Amino acid sequence: MTKEIFLKNYMEDCVWELLDQVLAQDPEACRCDTCRYDIVALALNHLPPRYVVREKGEIYSKLAMLEAQHRADIYRALTEALMKVKESPRHD
Ligand SMILES: [Zn+2]
Repeated sequence: MTKEIFLKNYMEDCVWELLDQVLAQDPEACRCDTCRYDIVALALNHLPPRYVVREKGEIYSKLAMLEAQHRADIYRALTEALMKVKESPRHD
């Protein structure tokens, strides 16, 4: 039986995971999908990808893989991305 395996950039999950915490620090920030995706895209472009091989259906803990330093980097990238999107959101 062949296993279904695929590549996953777990940095992406980590950024989504921390997005709400960063947004919580800034009550004035827009929370629409456009802005959320823009913030995550900008942040990911400033972070190194972390590819892992996954098996379909496998359960794993995303944040358990995050070291403190890693987390600090993600926070910083998200905060900077949030500022940029706030300055020029792609909508009125
Ligand atoms: Zn918005």
